[in-house]
Amino acid sequence: MSAAAPSVAPAASGSVAPLPAGSVAPAAPAGAPLRLDVITIFPDYLRALDLSLIGRAAGEGLIDLHVHDLRDWARDRHRTVDDTPLGGGAGMVMKPDVWGEALDEVLALPADAAAARESAAGRGRRVLVVPTPAGRVFTQRTAEDLARADHLVFACGRYEGIDARVAEHYRAAGIEVAELSIGDYVLSGGEAAALVMIEAIARLRPGVLGNPDSVVEESHGASGLLEQEVYTRPVAWRGLDVSRAWPALLSGDHARVARQRRDRAIARTIARRPDMIELLRPDTLDAADRAALARGGWAVLDGAAGPVELVVRPAAEADLADLVDLAARTFPDACPPFLTAEQIARHVAAHLTPGRFADWLADPRVVLTVAALGRDATTRGGRVASGELIGYSAVLIEPGDGGAPPPGLDPRPDGVTVPAAPDGGAGLAAELSKVYVDARLRGSGTAAALLAQAVRAAAAAGVTALWLGTYGANRRAQRAYRRAGFAGAGSRTYDVGGRICHDVVMALNPQEAAGEH
Ligand code: SAM
Repeated sequence: MSAAAPSVAPAASGSVAPLPAGSVAPAAPAGAPLRLDVITIFPDYLRALDLSLIGRAAGEGLIDLHVHDLRDWARDRHRTVDDTPLGGGAGMVMKPDVWGEALDEVLALPADAAAARESAAGRGRRVLVVPTPAGRVFTQRTAEDLARADHLVFACGRYEGIDARVAEHYRAAGIEVAELSIGDYVLSGGEAAALVMIEAIARLRPGVLGNPDSVVEESHGASGLLEQEVYTRPVAWRGLDVSRAWPALLSGDHARVARQRRDRAIARTIARRPDMIELLRPDTLDAADRAALARGGWAVLDGAAGPVELVVRPAAEADLADLVDLAARTFPDACPPFLTAEQIARHVAAHLTPGRFADWLADPRVVLTVAALGRDATTRGGRVASGELIGYSAVLIEPGDGGAPPPGLDPRPDGVTVPAAPDGGAGLAAELSKVYVDARLRGSGTAAALLAQAVRAAAAAGVTALWLGTYGANRRAQRAYRRAGFAGAGSRTYDVGGRICHDVVMALNPQEAAGEH
């Protein structure tokens, strides 16, 4: 079969013209076609390669495809290619002698391993691919690697597989042998596996895809993420309206579209392939990526190899001692620099007591949430054990009936308005009283995860105005609150250990914010 006539039908007899030594391109020049040989007892199975992209690529000379019937190398009348397994057992095994003759010819090698090594040298990169469920798993990385070869020969097994000496012999003969599995399941033959691998490899060759950008952002590409969901017109179909679920997508603002696509790719990968999230390299993740990961419950720790899953859960009585300790440890981090250690200590002793936390744990109007890592991790700030409390948040809900407020609830600042509930009923206000994270986890996204959870919990409790006060000069905290959807709502003064501090007040409506991400 020539490149100009890309049919995969076997030739009438002796399906491959003998390849004289050296006929396989020595180090294929750039733009040379990728030569593909497939050896099988079912050549017709490979007819699918005549179709679609691969068929067209063969027609255009981008790949040079040859399919061979293994039985053409059998020596007996019945064209036998298999025999019973040595040592007994079920099924049949494919004979090494038949495979040897076929592969010697297709690879254009002498049968002697030492002579083959010499003749194989310097002929460009050639790989003998043996599909087998016992092989290394074929991935996009494997496809990228094999797409850089000059010649691939696929040996399709049937029955119980090919005698193991075949792979061993060609390895010893200096041939690169790749025993590859397309997944953890068993097929009846290697043909479907070869089809899968050829399609994945060939579409990566230059010129095969109309738009080469198609391979850049797809699943399993360089980003290490799954691709986000894709949509086309009509925008609204059977009640599913893309413009509502993906507000940025139709905005025409390329930066916003790109950001939302990436956020969605991160969310989808978290939901479907958390194993891929663990492999993301922190240096490839910007602040918005980290926020998207945090919303899905993953932290990016300074100094750790990859993201770590967070456990964000309601606080329990058993957390009390650790919670009090964490609160005392983290409170000074967010204080203005002019406060003295004494003033801070006075505030902690008065407000962050075991009694206060015990009251909050018992009060249904307080949503107390804690965060921990799902596994041990080493950060630049030290080791963090799984389960150890690394952050907490407290949402204090105003009594709707005018009863006594939960302890510690600050007076609602004038700038905070309380919108009506979505059903038109009375709105409800709550203070996001605390969001604190252990200093070792600074910048990890833990605060964003706690914030996202606080907003969700407030939405579920019917809150329509969630507000907070934060020290005016703490721009980092304000940026984090803005990323979570909070907007400025005035200012207030706040007493820390007898010293008056000026806070910025921010607020959001959890009923609107919770659905947005
Ligand atoms: N006895 C073999 C084992 O358990 O590992 C399974 C042989 S299988 C029934 C027959 C042939 O199907 C294999 O030689 C291989 O060519 C092909 N095959 C089956 N599952 C495969 C997979 N997951 N990936 C690649 N090839 C596979």
